[in-house]
Amino acid sequence: MIQVASNCVGCGKCVGTCPFGALSLVNRKAVPNASCTMCGACVSVCPVKALSLPASGAAKKDLSAYKGVWAFIEISDDGKTQKVRPVGFELLSKGRELADQLGEELCAVVIGQNVEAYFAELSSYGADKIYAVSGPAYRDYNTAAYANAMVTLIKKYQPSVVLYPSTYIGRDLSPRISSELFVGLTADCTGLSIADGLLIQTRPAFGGNIMADIKCPDYRPQMSTVRPNVFKKVVTRPGSMAQIVNEPVAVPASAGKVRIISKHFDETSAQDKLDEAEVVIAGGRGMKDAAGFALLDDLAGELGGAVGASRAAIDLGLKPKEKQVGQSGVTVAAKLYVACGISGAVQHIVGMEHSDVIIAVNKDANAPIFNVCKYGFVGDARQLMPKVVEAVKKAKNK
Ligand SMILES: Cc1cc2nc3c(=O)[nH]c(=O)nc-3n(C[C@H](O)[C@H](O)[C@H](O)COP(=O)(O)OP(=O)(O)OC[C@H]3O[C@@H](n4cnc5c(N)ncnc54)[C@H](O)[C@@H]3O)c2cc1C
Repeated sequence: MIQVASNCVGCGKCVGTCPFGALSLVNRKAVPNASCTMCGACVSVCPVKALSLPASGAAKKDLSAYKGVWAFIEISDDGKTQKVRPVGFELLSKGRELADQLGEELCAVVIGQNVEAYFAELSSYGADKIYAVSGPAYRDYNTAAYANAMVTLIKKYQPSVVLYPSTYIGRDLSPRISSELFVGLTADCTGLSIADGLLIQTRPAFGGNIMADIKCPDYRPQMSTVRPNVFKKVVTRPGSMAQIVNEPVAVPASAGKVRIISKHFDETSAQDKLDEAEVVIAGGRGMKDAAGFALLDDLAGELGGAVGASRAAIDLGLKPKEKQVGQSGVTVAAKLYVACGISGAVQHIVGMEHSDVIIAVNKDANAPIFNVCKYGFVGDARQLMPKVVEAVKKAKNK
């Protein structure tokens, strides 16, 4: 909460300035209440400098006990099988690099039922240790139960870094943990590195026009979420087995507030799922209309790929929002990404630049998409695509 010094003259300027109604005058002195977010808006308006933000107490705290890079491993469920979501391996692969630079352990944290089935695979992606919270009560994701398990483990073992996937579950879980532990959380990081022993969390800022490096020097653990396909998954320790730490954590009563009444599974095939597709045929405003996108559907059908779109095309209603590639859509890492009629705005590029081979078709030879593609064609995509589809059909029939 904001601090009020004894020289407060009770002028009330701060009361009117506070956007949260967190200050009032009591006996001609400013008094903050629990709504204070420490935004600091009142500090600059005080004419006698009686208001201040509390000095960071944690700066004086000894953080040396916090050691280890953790990755929260999400288990996916398609109604038939449960398995590790690939983003878990991506987090472990990046985590391995970070742990090596810090000289600390890399640990996977897996919560679910029969989680021992995943130990060998998690070990091969570099985990030194696996913290396992297993039992029927954890079979299905439950925010309160999972957050309680994570907070219990973090308080007990004190990691210095915790990474989460930026998935529906990761985005639901990680803020609960950060508010419970009163630590920061950097969402949707596109880069992670170590400098002076601190985690440097890189992410787009100001609408994607700059990349911001964020660090958390005063609090532990340092926590980030990372979208699927941002980091490559690398098997660093084939055949090895991590040390297993089984942690029985009781499910808190609060978890009972949420009950799963029925489950519906996404029937979309892996081929159609943008974040899992090996081939993505993407269209932008340059494809103009539904007929233009039908050409892309044809090519995707022939190549066994998914169709994606730029935000401009989504805004035109040419594809549903979940097909948007980019900063505010899905990040893809396809083997082949074909961009048709897409200019190559930075917000689009950050969502597809990790693809292995990028082919761009654009009428404008100066379009920025040509700076990131391996093969570029200057021309009308609407005229070119039918010819490409024909050529692919012919090649397949040979
Ligand atoms: C905070 C924020 C988040 C954003 N998030 C995203 C995001 O997640 N994903 C995203 O894509 N954008 C995002 N944007 C929008 C982004 O800045 C661009 O506006 C958008 O990517 C442009 O889409 P486009 O390339 O399809 O359209 P345009 O920029 O209009 O480009 C159309 C291109 O098509 C070419 N063209 C026209 N006709 C043809 C033809 N017949 N054949 C071949 N080429 C042709 C033109 O030369 C042009 O280069 C975001 C913006 C902001 C501010």
